[in-house]
Amino acid sequence: MNNELISLAKQFRISVLYDGKIPAKDNLSGEEYLLELFRAEAKARLNRATAERLKQARLPCDKDFKDFDTDFQKAVSREQINILAKLEWIDSLFNLILIGPPGTGKTHLALAIGNTAAKTGYNVFFSMMDNLIHILKTQEISQKSASRMRWISKCDLVIIDEMGYMPITKTEANLFFGLISQLYQNTSVIITSNKGFDGWAELFGDSVLATALLDRLTQKCQVLSLTGESYRLAHSKKLF
Ligand code: ADP
Ligand code: MG
Repeated sequence: MNNELISLAKQFRISVLYDGKIPAKDNLSGEEYLLELFRAEAKARLNRATAERLKQARLPCDKDFKDFDTDFQKAVSREQINILAKLEWIDSLFNLILIGPPGTGKTHLALAIGNTAAKTGYNVFFSMMDNLIHILKTQEISQKSASRMRWISKCDLVIIDEMGYMPITKTEANLFFGLISQLYQNTSVIITSNKGFDGWAELFGDSVLATALLDRLTQKCQVLSLTGESYRLAHSKKLF
């Protein structure tokens, strides 16, 4: 390809020209061809933005709503899943708290929401509670944590997985409370936990803080209590 064309394409960042994805000329007029070119560029930019958003979201794996078996998990209906999948609740700044014993599908639902949201154009961040606490504690001394915090502050949805499995200190509880206050009324939050609200005071070691936290989180919030046995256990493979 013409060197000057490549150089100008780079200067104006028309990636389809220098990535070798130029649309076919066919029998198009000059104007029609330009339109094809801009369409191809728009699509390439959208794909790059989606890939970057998915990378930043740090979802540990791909989960889908359609694979969620509502015959097994009877506490959630297909209608409720469809409402969650529409994501309008994120625009309305609702939070979602998924409570239930291990293996009941809390992380599956949170991941399906996060995956759909990131692909739709929402900024998402997923973290296990212990990793989030680590980020909060090291944001002043670690570039990586500072960068994660910058992304969190731009997020539409923050997913905090497995709150309640690991004990947390008073300092950590305060840092977590600070984050939830920062996100309050700006960002939707999903929390998954094996502990019901009455266990939160003990988890945070402070009933006043737990109440203040719940107050912020539950002002606009859907709580789903998942029940029953573990899907993993029920579907575990046997040797004989
Ligand atoms: P939890 O976070 O509640 O401990 P997970 O969401 O990690 O449970 O579920 C454990 C495993 O079982 C995952 O692989 C998940 O995809 C699967 N699973 C759980 N519940 C369901 C369900 N109702 N339908 C299909 N797969 C499920
Ligand atoms: Mg889980």
